[in-house]
Amino acid sequence: MKAVVIGGGVVGCSVLYHLARAGWTDIMLIERSELTSGSSWHAAGGFHTLNGDPNVAKLQAYTVQLYKELEEISGQSCSLHLTGGVMLADSPERMDFLRLAHAKGRYLGMDTELITPSEAKKMFPLMDEKHFVGAMWDPVEGHLDPSGTTHAYAKAAKKLGAEIVLRNPVKELTQDPDGTWNVVTEQGTVRAEHVVNCGGLWAREVGRMVGVELPVLAMEHMYLLTEPMPEVEAFNKETGREMIGVLDFKGEIYTRQERNGILLGTYEKACKPWSPVNTPWDFGHELLAPDLDRIAPSLEIGFQHFPGIANAGIKQVINGPFTFAPDGNPLVGPVQGLTNFWVACGVMAGFSQGGGVGLALSNWMVNGDPGFDVWGMDVARWGEWASLRYTNAKVRENYSRRFSIRFPNEELPAARPAQTTPLYDTMVANNAVMGDSWGLETPLWFAPKGTEPKDIVSFHRSNDFEHIGNEVRATRDRVGVTEIANFAKYEVSGPASEDFLNRLMTNRMPKNGRIVLTPMLNEFGRLIGDFTIAKTGDDTFMIWGSSAAQKYHMRWFEQHLPKDGSVRIHRFDQTLVGLSIAGPKSQALLAKLVDEDVSSKAFRFMDFREMAVGGAPCMVNRITYTGDLGYEIWMAPAYQRLVYKAIKDAGEEFGIVDFGMRALLSMRLEKNFPTWFRELRPIYGPFEGSMERFIKLEKNDFIGREAAAREHAEGPKLRRVSFYVDAQDADVMGDEPIWAKVGAKDFGTIEKPHGYGAPRFDETGKEVRGSDAATGASAVRGIVDGDWRVVGWVTSGGYAHYVEKSMAQGYVPAALAENEAEGLFEIEILGHRRPARINVEPPFDPSGDKMRG
Ligand SMILES: Cc1cc2nc3c(=O)[nH]c(=O)nc-3n(C[C@H](O)[C@H](O)[C@H](O)COP(=O)(O)OP(=O)(O)OC[C@H]3O[C@@H](n4cnc5c(N)ncnc54)[C@H](O)[C@@H]3O)c2cc1C
Repeated sequence: MKAVVIGGGVVGCSVLYHLARAGWTDIMLIERSELTSGSSWHAAGGFHTLNGDPNVAKLQAYTVQLYKELEEISGQSCSLHLTGGVMLADSPERMDFLRLAHAKGRYLGMDTELITPSEAKKMFPLMDEKHFVGAMWDPVEGHLDPSGTTHAYAKAAKKLGAEIVLRNPVKELTQDPDGTWNVVTEQGTVRAEHVVNCGGLWAREVGRMVGVELPVLAMEHMYLLTEPMPEVEAFNKETGREMIGVLDFKGEIYTRQERNGILLGTYEKACKPWSPVNTPWDFGHELLAPDLDRIAPSLEIGFQHFPGIANAGIKQVINGPFTFAPDGNPLVGPVQGLTNFWVACGVMAGFSQGGGVGLALSNWMVNGDPGFDVWGMDVARWGEWASLRYTNAKVRENYSRRFSIRFPNEELPAARPAQTTPLYDTMVANNAVMGDSWGLETPLWFAPKGTEPKDIVSFHRSNDFEHIGNEVRATRDRVGVTEIANFAKYEVSGPASEDFLNRLMTNRMPKNGRIVLTPMLNEFGRLIGDFTIAKTGDDTFMIWGSSAAQKYHMRWFEQHLPKDGSVRIHRFDQTLVGLSIAGPKSQALLAKLVDEDVSSKAFRFMDFREMAVGGAPCMVNRITYTGDLGYEIWMAPAYQRLVYKAIKDAGEEFGIVDFGMRALLSMRLEKNFPTWFRELRPIYGPFEGSMERFIKLEKNDFIGREAAAREHAEGPKLRRVSFYVDAQDADVMGDEPIWAKVGAKDFGTIEKPHGYGAPRFDETGKEVRGSDAATGASAVRGIVDGDWRVVGWVTSGGYAHYVEKSMAQGYVPAALAENEAEGLFEIEILGHRRPARINVEPPFDPSGDKMRG
């Protein structure tokens, strides 16, 4: 067999269908019982497009768009009801949240609209509008029949040649030395090249068959069905329409019409995990006992907000379990450390996401790449720290906050601290506000002594503003120190290590004792990494990268390691920690800490050297992300306190300060430096990302070279640029639309390039594509306004404290990328369009003289 898919829920059936559609027919789905025997059969069947991660939102849009195709191929109805829906805001903050979501939707091709509570009431007369301040209408919402839809995927897959075996539990998974999987089932063993875990409620157990503890937990979830309601029947009769879906954030409630009554579900605060350690194998088509007391607080608010429903009788309460990952997004992709073992699980909204998950995974398995940006659901986004107990705490937090606002400066408390460095207690004693950086506690900023080290969460500038400013100014004027343990660190060694890195990286490898910066590309010439690499010995290199991408990058490195053992790779994680010192006095400070010459002549910009710092053996890079004169100092954890104390003692005469991650990110902004996962992601090419200095097309045949050469020859369509923004009291957060005054000039695709066009729908649910021929304007409402149109999107930004400017980075059409004119751009922040201007040169140290020292 080419592939065996384990599990016949909606996700397994979608994966099977998409694999068959991609041309793999020697494939088999094995189901323990009947199709839908996990959580799929009792789902409420709702679907929507909106998601906090725009990339996941696109996958949801794809899923909804797919149902028509599925019905046609399978001949099986999904009972699709595309009713549209509203999200109701009860507070100004929630309205800001909706404005943000609406703005994001502009370049995603989503046709959402902000409306008043009375407009919402016209669509959903059961509500009392006095509880709300506004709403957002989304036409791409509705509900379907969960069982019919799962069967439609299965039938369509079978028609394309796939096989489905029912009533046959998979008991064991073993792998032969040649990589072939033995899928041991009750009815015998199936040999397969690939195995996909779509075990849903049992995904953890299937993971354990190969020694993997997947961060998945099932939660009990309740919804109720009312008796038939005369108000609903009257509305249907009067309007000829079904009632729309409604999401009430305050009540943690979603509702929709079900027959002549209403279905109402809650994501209650007092949530309850189901089978937290082991899922019983004999669980199947049964429901859990309802517990109305648990959802009573939500119902109480719901009945005030929707008095029509309060008077209706309750016909039935459904309580069933379904699974979540710690952040509520799916777990998809190949598992690092294993070969050809794939997962598609933790899918909490199978009917919104199942299609997109199936498409991504099948692309990945068949073409070696998911085809678009799936980081938000990549199984590699979790590290070893995402244990069973961590997952339990985080899933409960996520479930109970499902309808809560997550502010851009909000750090969530559950399961923390997970990992700490030896300096954790010192940083806390220094009044640091700590943040979670891929499971590691990291100082974000330092509150003044005597004040509570706590963020006031907000979409606007907050209580950290002044203090981050002080950290930045003290560092830029004197010297500052910060922890950098939250970088990824790897060592590559062995006789073929240089060849290996030259094949993977776009830049030339450095000489002994030197450092380079280098992107990494996939075969399609898209950015999949950005690293600092030092040559530390004849056959050894140190690599530093993004901490959150450690598993993602290890998976790629391992896939490309020569089979003969001539290259070894080691990921340090927290067995190597670091401190960075930066600012004009940092060189004098380092000189006091070492017994060798570290003048700019002896230890140049981009040099690497092993030296004793404050008496501790360290590796030192003459480079910092602040873009200032500075150093990164790496040491074993056992030495970190010693080195920190030495730095602080020796730095006293220079007026040294501690600075946190937020000051670091502010300083990188005024150097126009990109960040991985915001500016640089697998949806961009290296020239689009303005990384040309690090792309050496002529050096050798590195992965992605051909595609990069093509991008270079044709010229990139988009460019990453940096803006000054005339912001008021709120800076950009990321994903804001960029408007330009360009008249009718069309720059082609302005939708964020996720690998397939953004689907759009008319009021009947039909997909609409392309431009409006009459006006030359895009068909998407809200992206054209007189001479202004949305031409791009922000990736990240904030306040650049040293140059005293609000700044943003983002992507615009290449033709506009060097146009520094005033009055050409506006960036939409929280619903307000603010003037913006491109700055080609970084405002801080554009010549790099300070950095070189
Ligand atoms: C009350 C409730 C309401 C919901 N409402 C919605 C909603 O409105 N919209 C929405 O999108 N989602 C909703 N959901 C969530 C939705 O049900 C899930 O997202 C979806 O069912 C996940 O599908 P799955 O295929 O991943 O898992 P499952 O449906 O659990 O399927 C897994 C399958 O794998 C099989 N299996 C496991 N282990 C083995 C093995 N070893 N050998 C063979 N077979 C195996 C199981 O028997 C099962 O059939 C709701 C869920 C509940 C409980």
